[in-house]
This record gives sequence, C-alpha cells and structure tokens, in this order.
Amino acid sequence: ELLESPLHLAPEPSLPLPPDLYGAERRNSAGVDLTVPSLRATLEEALAQTTVPAIALADPAQVPAAVDRSLAAGEGWSRVPVAERAAALRRAADAMEADLPRLCALLVKEGFKAWGDSVAEVREAVDFLRYYALQAERLLQPVTLPGPTGESNELRLTARGAWVCISPWNFPLAIFTGQVAAALVTGNSVLAKPAEQTPAVAAEAVRLLHAAGVPRDALQLLHGPGETVGAALVAEPRIAGVVFTGSTQVAKVIQRALAAKDGPIVPLIAETGGINAMLVDSTALPEQVVDAVVQSAFRSAGQRCSALRLLCVHEAIADGVIAMVQGAARELVTGDPAEWRTDVGPVIDDEAFANLQRHLQRLQREAKPLLPPSEFDPRTRMVPPQAFEVTAVDQVKHEIFGPVLHIARWRGDPQATIHAINRIGYGLTLGIQTRIDSRAEALAREARIGNVYVNRNMIGAVVGVQPFGGEGMSGTGPKAGGPHYLTRFCAEQTVTVNTAAAGG
Ligand code: NAD
Repeated sequence: ELLESPLHLAPEPSLPLPPDLYGAERRNSAGVDLTVPSLRATLEEALAQTTVPAIALADPAQVPAAVDRSLAAGEGWSRVPVAERAAALRRAADAMEADLPRLCALLVKEGFKAWGDSVAEVREAVDFLRYYALQAERLLQPVTLPGPTGESNELRLTARGAWVCISPWNFPLAIFTGQVAAALVTGNSVLAKPAEQTPAVAAEAVRLLHAAGVPRDALQLLHGPGETVGAALVAEPRIAGVVFTGSTQVAKVIQRALAAKDGPIVPLIAETGGINAMLVDSTALPEQVVDAVVQSAFRSAGQRCSALRLLCVHEAIADGVIAMVQGAARELVTGDPAEWRTDVGPVIDDEAFANLQRHLQRLQREAKPLLPPSEFDPRTRMVPPQAFEVTAVDQVKHEIFGPVLHIARWRGDPQATIHAINRIGYGLTLGIQTRIDSRAEALAREARIGNVYVNRNMIGAVVGVQPFGGEGMSGTGPKAGGPHYLTRFCAEQTVTVNTAAAGG
C-alpha cells in the first residue's frame, strides 16, 4: 500500500502569463511602452550611441582556477535562501527591461538582428528571469512524503555545484540568460561560455546579473572558441553538469567528452537543432498557412532552431499555397538590420554564409527553385528568402541555417506524411494546419516532436506557455521555460528520520 501511494509533489500553481503574450502592450517599471513601433525613436538613438566593445578571450589554461573560484563561491550562494536568489533574478529582469533600447542596439550591431526580433529577444530574456524566479520558489520547498508511523520522509532539491553553460549566437541574450538564470536560482554557480560571435551581449547580461546581487565568482564568463575554452570547461573533472544549446553535432562531442573523463556521471541538458515541418491538409485556410510560413521560415533570416524548413502541403491546394508563398516572400525586405523596414537581415558570419551558399547551390541542382536565386555577395552576407519544391519529405536531410524553405506535396493518408517527418530524426517543432479538429489531435499524438502548433500563425515558444525543447536529434530535455526545467539543475535528496527512536 505504501509503495503504491503517489508522490505528493507541490501542486503547480496557476502561473501568471507573461504580460506580453502574443505581442500585446507591455510597459517597464518606468512606464515606458515596450511595443516595437512606439520604441522607434529610442531604439534609433540607442543605436547611434552604442558601440560593440572589444572582449578579452580566456585561455583554456585559466579554467582550473576559474573552477576553484566557482566552487568556493557556490558554497555561499547555495546557502542563500531561494527567495533572495529569486529576488536577484527579478532585479536583473527589471534592469534588463529598463535597458532594453541599448540591449536591442547591441543585438542589432553584434548579432545582426532585425529590430522586431531584437525587442522580442530582450523581452524573452526578461521572461526567463521572472519565470525561473517564480518556479524556483515553488520547486525548492521540501516535500513531505507519506511514510509509516514512526518515520518522517522528506524530499529536497539541492544545488549540484558548478555548472557549465554553453550557448549559441542566434539568441545570444535570451538563451544565455535562460541557462544562467536556471543554474543560479537553483543555488549552483556558473561558468558561462557564450558563442564566439556574440560575446558583448553575454557580457552585458552578466553585468546586469552581478549588479543585481549575484556574486562575481558565482557567475563567471569565459569567452573564446568552443573547441578550446568550451572543451576545457567540459573536460574539467569537478564540474557538476553542462547545459548546452547549439548544434546536434557539438552536443554529441560534449556527451562523449563527459563520458570519457574519470569521476562522477554528470548531467547534460542539450537543446539542439531541428528540421521543422508543417503539415497542411486540404481543409486548411491558405491565408493562415502563408502567414505562418512567412513568420516562421524567413524571420531572423531563418536562423532559428524552431524555423520552418519543410512545408508539406496537400496536393489539392498546393498550387495556390505555393503561389501565395512566392508572393508573400517577395514582399519581405532583405537588408541592413539597422534599417527600420528590414525583415530579413544578413546571416551571422562568413562561415555560415559559405555553408548556406553551398546548400543553395546543391538545391538549385536537386530541387525546383520557386523564388529568384540569391546573388551571394560575401560583403553583405544577405540572402533573400529562398524556396524549393522537393519530391519527397526524405529529400530534406540537412538543417540549413538560413531563410530557406522546402515544399513537398502529399496526398493520401496524412499519418504517412507524419511518419515520414518522424523519420527525419529531428523532433523540435511541427505545425499542423487543418480545420478537422480530430485530425489535428490524431496527428499531434502520432508525432515524435517536442512542440506542436495547430493552426497557429507562428512556430515559436512563449516562456511559461509553451515550454520549448525537442526529441531525438533535437535534444535531451527537459524543456526550457517549463515547470520541469529547474529540477535537472538540482540533486534530489531524501531524508528519512526514525521519529520513534530515542531523541526522535
Ligand atoms: P554550435 O553548436 O556551433 O555552437 C554552440 C556553442 O558550442 C558555442 O558557444 C560554441 O563555441 C560551443 N562549442 C563548439 N564546439 C565545442 C566543443 N567542442 N566543446 C564545447 N563547446 C563547444 O551552434 P551555433 O552555430 O552557435 O548555433 C546554431 C545551432 O544551435 C543550430 O543547430 C540551432 O538549431 C541550434 N539551436 C538550438 C536551439 C534549441 O533550443 N533547440 C536554440 C537555438 C539554437
């Protein structure tokens, strides 16, 4: 009977939804309206005043001393009451919101983000800080478990130690802040290795967290290449865990490195790439489909792990949908991200540009181009939206990080198309567009995919509303921005006391 009694974890409170859900109005503590059009003058002024500072690189030889300091600082930080750690995150959130124009300017200048994307990113980083503050206060309370008379049982979540946080350049503020905030609020110390392409954005986030009360050594930043500085951090025998967001390939390198070293087994939280599909049946509304496609495939120049790469459209409406996608894609403005009207900015760096060029030249040969080809000017690194018709789902094998959409026609049983999508092996996001509710439900159940969006005009997650993360080659979970995320940063300890014993 005892064995069958359920674990009584604290109930999930109803979470306050982020106030900016789906782009509604939002103001910071000074009352400044944070919606994009009203910010224009402030953002342009910030852009003129912001320069991207030079950042000193760390040497891999510095890693052991950094770990020494991290472990020492972590001792004290883990004993700070969770409410105080959460309060530090909330102060950092307020400061980040107050600093939104300057942070956006940095995202535009260092990360080549369009304005709308940079405002959305700062808001997401702020949401991570507030959400994890709230979750930590809920989760880190000891839970009393049922037990026999004469015994008390308690389950506690405790800090693990020094976490290594490794982040990508494509959400250099939001993903970096989310990882670091989760590790810190659960009482761990952090050694953060941001992407080489976007060190200044990470340095700003760290500055704000330190100013908000996180001890300097509890949050250390080590800039530099992944293959040297990142690898040295992962190989350090005393780290407690690694949280990684980036490519599937590098996640596997890290997993192997963790397994190869002596010492304890440490957790790896990996959020990786995606080849994301949208299944459109013959009942779908073409206008809704095209809106979703344009939002999801081409924004951020397609450099999102969640970006739509493969549109699977029923043959009965395929010609109409393709014509509308072509029209809508041609209306998007590709250009300098600092220009207000730009929808699609440049890709991040020369290497990414060369990779994209290679993939597009292959697709020009192997598939049917649906939009004018790119001119590939390496000085601008700009690629206007590209779309190709492929003959089958299994022709799409590579995660192409750019504004590139594949379109495949299907007929017959939609389940067969979902199975083909499952076989691609990534499992990050899936869009379903249908007016048949029972079909949407059946297809979602069949999909081995972490985030499914039915009839939604955007493939992407809101912190606390759609916890984000994938299956298969897309990651190991738990989902960021969700109620279970923080638990992986903690060790679980049960304490059983024989209360019938002398002194009990
Ligand atoms: P990347 O894998 O090249 O690099 C990510 C980070 O890992 C960088 O900080 C890099 O320096 C570091 N790194 C590289 N080699 C390393 C090594 N041997 N040891 C330790 N660290 C190392 O990825 P990227 O190009 O920065 O980002 C794009 C990728 O990230 C895409 O695949 C995209 O889908 C993925 N991504 C996934 C999510 C998600 O939530 N699932 C979100 C954003 C981006």
